[in-house]
Order: sequence, then structure tokens, then C-alpha cells
Amino acid sequence: MSIADPYRRSGQLDGKCLCGSVGLHIDGDYVAAIGVCHCSNCQRSNGTAWGAFQASPDAVRITGNVARYASAPFAERVFCPVCGSNLWLRDTDAKDAPYEFMPALFPEAADFPLISEVYSDRAPAYASFAGDHRRVTRAEYEAKNPHVEGDMP
Ligand SMILES: [Zn+2]
Ligand SMILES: [Zn+2]
Repeated sequence: MSIADPYRRSGQLDGKCLCGSVGLHIDGDYVAAIGVCHCSNCQRSNGTAWGAFQASPDAVRITGNVARYASAPFAERVFCPVCGSNLWLRDTDAKDAPYEFMPALFPEAADFPLISEVYSDRAPAYASFAGDHRRVTRAEYEAKNPHVEGDMP
């Protein structure tokens, strides 16, 4: 069983970027829980702690123009070209890869619990999260997952 399984939901969620020119609409399966990542790639792209929740690609509808940045050979980060809001991260090497949406764009996600913290040994002092959620160190994560070579602060 995946750690996310108890948090799987099906339904509608609506979000938007800061300026409102990008609309994010979910109608289908998503995970009502947040995973945080403290790798330098995620930290730098957000400018602070990075966290996201997943939605099934066939449930997602986007309105408005977006800009994309290939932050790794296997993933892209998508943002609003007008206001700069980070919108989502997504693996590009699998057609069925989930969208990993920035939770603050969706008002309802304020209730989603934190269930996972990756690169937990790299958490900056200003973003150390209390609780008994799952923690995965850099070494543990990189042993099992694709990552950016030489990920260093
Ligand atoms: Zn915007
Ligand atoms: Zn990361």
C-alpha cells in the first residue's frame, strides 16, 4: 500500500495563480495530502520550502498560458509567465505521471495534512516541520529514485 492511499479522493478542486490568468481545475482523482521536498532544485525554484499534492493527469484541466522549465532531464516545472507563481512539477518521462500541484493555489488544500518529507536531512532551519510524518533522507531517496546529478545547495 502506498503511503498516499488513505488520502486518495475523487472530486473537484479549483485553483488559480496569483494574477488569476491561469486556472487549475481538477475533476477526478487526487491525493488530499502534501509531500514536501528539500532538495536544492525544489528549494531554489520556490525560494523557500517546496510542497505539493498529486492529481491524476486525466483529471486535470488548465486554462490560460503557462511557461515551462525543464529543471531535470526527467521533470519540468511550470509557472505563470505573467505573475511567476509556481504551478506544478511533473515528470516528463511518463505519460501518466501525476501533476504535483502547489497547494497554496487551491484554497481547499489548506486542510491537507503533511505526510512525507523528502531530503529531510537537508531541511533549512526556517522550514523544519514537526510531526510524525514519513521522513526520507537524501541518501535514502537517491538510492531509489532519479535525481539531479550532484544535487548540492
Ligand atoms: Zn499568474
Ligand atoms: Zn525536490
